[in-house]
Amino acid sequence: MSTFPNLRLNRLRRTAGIRAMFDLEIPSPAKWCWPTFVVPGQQIKEEIASMPGQFRYSPDQLLPAVEAVVKQGIGSILLFGQTDQPKDNGGSQAWCDHGAVQQAIRLIKREFPQLTVISDVCLCAYTDHGHCAPLRSDGSLDNDLACECLARTALSHAAAGADIVAPSAMMDGQVAAIRSALAENEFHHTLLMAYSTKFASACYGPFRDAEGSAPQLRPGMPSDRKGYQASYANARNALMESVLDETEGADILMVKPALFYLDMIQKVREQTLLPVAAYNVSGEYSMLIATAERGWGDLDELVRESTMGIVRSGADLIISYWASQYQRFFGTR
Ligand SMILES: [Zn+2]
Repeated sequence: MSTFPNLRLNRLRRTAGIRAMFDLEIPSPAKWCWPTFVVPGQQIKEEIASMPGQFRYSPDQLLPAVEAVVKQGIGSILLFGQTDQPKDNGGSQAWCDHGAVQQAIRLIKREFPQLTVISDVCLCAYTDHGHCAPLRSDGSLDNDLACECLARTALSHAAAGADIVAPSAMMDGQVAAIRSALAENEFHHTLLMAYSTKFASACYGPFRDAEGSAPQLRPGMPSDRKGYQASYANARNALMESVLDETEGADILMVKPALFYLDMIQKVREQTLLPVAAYNVSGEYSMLIATAERGWGDLDELVRESTMGIVRSGADLIISYWASQYQRFFGTR
């Protein structure tokens, strides 16, 4: 039975003013986190070919970029590191006190103490095979040794001053291992943001270009990360990852990627009382730019529309490369 002509929904959309009364708003910059890349050395600022507008910075060059995001009011940054030292099976440079990430954390906390600094905790940029865990001689992953390595890495970040450590290796027990290492070393205030539901996604290509962290192809070794990252075709198992990380002591949960997994963000949001972060990943960033460059869509509109999808899904924190251009895309117009 039609209610027309009494009910006309267009009335609620007729003017920009009426729409603004009822539309959701893009979250303020305090609810955004900018992920970025730190490399060893000095005076380095190189654009990442597959992520236009995003760069790899040496710690000294990172400061002006951080200042620019602080000026826009962005609440937090997420740091990924690299090493110029020899890589090994366990990724031992990941917990080197003088590593690029550890240096960058100290510098940023000194210059911008109000900015919340999050450090990615993984081994893949430091292992000589590119996996997120050490490998045994038969090529299989050593999950439990990885947890020890990840805990050492998280401790080195906490000691450098990271406000939040964020384990991303998807090893079983990694959150519990890091939480107990933090507690034993009296880092009671350090927050733990688990990459709790991280999918084995094809959207990480540009990131691996940025980090040089693609798994290498060697006989007897897994050729991808499907053995430890969540399967996109098994939502229950993926949801359980987040449930488990909460019981292991995570303070914040995360779904990664975001745009292909809005249903999962919503499910995790309904499952927990903890804050939920959405990681709008490199491939999701670069595909919008590529579309706009081909003239197939307007970048500003694409960014705003896709971001609103993440907001509707219920995420509390948006981790996104767009954060560094918050004013351009979401500033008052
Ligand atoms: Zn990794």
